[in-house]
Amino acid sequence: MASYEEVGIGDAVLLDEISTSAFVDNLRLRFNGGKIYTYIGEVCVSVNPYRPVTFYGKDYVNQYKGREIFERPPHIFAIADASYKAMKRRGKDTCIVISGESGSGKTEASKIIMRYIAAVTNVAGQQEVERVKNVLLQSNSILEAFGNAKTNRNDNSSRFGKYMDINFDFKGDPVGGHVQNYLLEKSRVVLQQQGERSFHSFYQVLFGATDSELSRLKLKRDVNSYHFIRQGGTPRVDSIADKADYKTCQQAFKTLGFTPEQIDAVWRIVGAILHLGNIEFSSGGDETQIQNPKVVKNIAELLHVSPDEVRKALCHRVIAARGEVMEKRHTESEATFGRDAFAKAIYERLFSFIVEGVNKAIEVRYEGLAARYKYNTVIGVLDIYGFEIFEQNSFEQFCINYCNEKLQQLFIELVLKQEQEEYKREGIAWQNIEYFNNQIICDLVEQPHKGIIAITDEACLNVGKVTDQMLLEAMENKLKGHNHFTTRKLSPMDKELKHVEEFRIKHYAGDVVYSIKGFLEKNKDTLFQDFKRLMYSSSDPVISDMWPEGAQDITMTTKRPLTAGTLFKNSMVALVKNLASKEPYYIRCIKPNDQKSPVIFDQERVVHQVNYLGLVENLRVRRAGFAYRQSYDRFLRRYKMISQYTWPNFHGGTDREGTKILVEEQGFTNDVKYGNTKLFIRSPQTLFALEQGRAKL
Ligand code: ATP
Ligand code: MG
Repeated sequence: MASYEEVGIGDAVLLDEISTSAFVDNLRLRFNGGKIYTYIGEVCVSVNPYRPVTFYGKDYVNQYKGREIFERPPHIFAIADASYKAMKRRGKDTCIVISGESGSGKTEASKIIMRYIAAVTNVAGQQEVERVKNVLLQSNSILEAFGNAKTNRNDNSSRFGKYMDINFDFKGDPVGGHVQNYLLEKSRVVLQQQGERSFHSFYQVLFGATDSELSRLKLKRDVNSYHFIRQGGTPRVDSIADKADYKTCQQAFKTLGFTPEQIDAVWRIVGAILHLGNIEFSSGGDETQIQNPKVVKNIAELLHVSPDEVRKALCHRVIAARGEVMEKRHTESEATFGRDAFAKAIYERLFSFIVEGVNKAIEVRYEGLAARYKYNTVIGVLDIYGFEIFEQNSFEQFCINYCNEKLQQLFIELVLKQEQEEYKREGIAWQNIEYFNNQIICDLVEQPHKGIIAITDEACLNVGKVTDQMLLEAMENKLKGHNHFTTRKLSPMDKELKHVEEFRIKHYAGDVVYSIKGFLEKNKDTLFQDFKRLMYSSSDPVISDMWPEGAQDITMTTKRPLTAGTLFKNSMVALVKNLASKEPYYIRCIKPNDQKSPVIFDQERVVHQVNYLGLVENLRVRRAGFAYRQSYDRFLRRYKMISQYTWPNFHGGTDREGTKILVEEQGFTNDVKYGNTKLFIRSPQTLFALEQGRAKL
């Protein structure tokens, strides 16, 4: 049995003083003592231990299974269990929102939660449930192979957002699931910073495939031969076993029911992208040409298309003007741009194809049964990119930070506002806690016509005429005077804004300076039609099916596709709506240092994260309020046995009166308030005492 010696204070609500420094000191004390979890009421703060830890085993599962949060020392299992219990006992859909910056431990937390759920379910050992649990767990290795990469912050950084639903039947056993992915960082396919890598899949195939597999893909076992994946200069990473991961990934593909043809097509596409990166153009005379036709041949063979069509798509574009179809030759830079856009697009499409395949494998198979019992409940787990402030911030950071604004908004809605509103509803005297409502920043980004996304979309309508600089001017005109937006022109005295092409957003989590460079292009996300037609023309049905829009006739006027910004905004609005319909649980992850060290607790870095996660505000609201609340009937049902006045039966009046008698007898009067329908208990100690009272009987 593990020891439960507490270090520091397990629930920050009990700290003597509420301040950032008191809160962070406690985290440090606990981190140094090996305690990585700390509560703020029911929010679990997790500090990345950066070392293997021993508290996720079966013995721990058993100690948390079916328990109430306050009965055991802080642990992520307790949150997983609370969400599972709410789902199973009360039939509630729940969600667990995991947030924190890159490397803080979100993905690990999501896997720990999934393993916990797998461990506490299917006591009857049903085969189908075992299958589902297995595919749910194995889906991670595929998604990570194709969606994660080594960055300077994290060797296994998720470069996409992930929301996974797990569906349960009426017995509380997992019967399926669904993955929703958000905004893959596809620019990584063609470009990496020093010290970083592209997605793991490229290195896995180069290091893990057999010689004959490689020769079928026409690849050499040499990362440095491939322009697209060698730019970071770090092909090998100590903490990553590419060869073994390739095997795991292949096995997972099989377990999830991908067909051999599909798996083959997946790696051929990966191979084709590697070759594509080596295509070189020259503009001898005025004709852009490909210097290495052999590479074109390889790509064509891997994609099952004609080499001539590949060459054409890379060097020309076909345009239809007034019903006439014409060929226009690319300049060298247009051709390079087209090549990169093509590589990014086919990888992104491949990733969506893989997610779809995962979804087919995990979708609920016996919906009929679940529907009959009407107990088909869901636990959603959200593992999504945290707030990002880099040296250079671009469109991607803008989207990611907007996502975090939306999640903060949800947190405010659900945790802070609801809490205060509940007190009002229950008629409990309550002093309003001031907190910053970031709605104004969400509006700044997403409002129709006036928001940054709308302004950018409008600029994108004028193809070719508008520059990034003009876009910035349009923003300046429309957003002048906005408290959370500025540029050098709007604030000439502002020393932080060094360049004319920059703008700054005052996010809830801090100020971020963005460069407008590339905004238009990234938002438009152009892929020449020619490439879509090329992929559609593939004689491999797996590939051709990935690109149905390639079937379109060139002369048909097509509807303008939605921009990347608008698509992202729509997906965020849908995500927030979905989360808001569920009972939320929160894991807030913190990265203790930038060295990935298990012993360094970098005070400044932690303070920064505590601030932008709004943890002290959260604590303040929680502490001003009540740690625990329960309707009178449920309270009485749980604790009536500890008082002679209420046990075995209470005949004296309403549940509320019974509760009052019990509380007075136990001497807790000063620690509670009586609401209209619920009892509110201020400190967790009272609850512990009540629980102990029960346990003694
Ligand atoms: P990103 O936003 O870049 O995807 P992340 O928040 O998902 O980052 P993780 O990949 O979960 O971060 O964690 C980074 C690394 O930290 C892990 O690879 C692992 O080495 C270590 N780590 C995180 N959580 C734990 C944990 N609970 N126990 C042991 N090690 C951990
Ligand atoms: Mg991650």
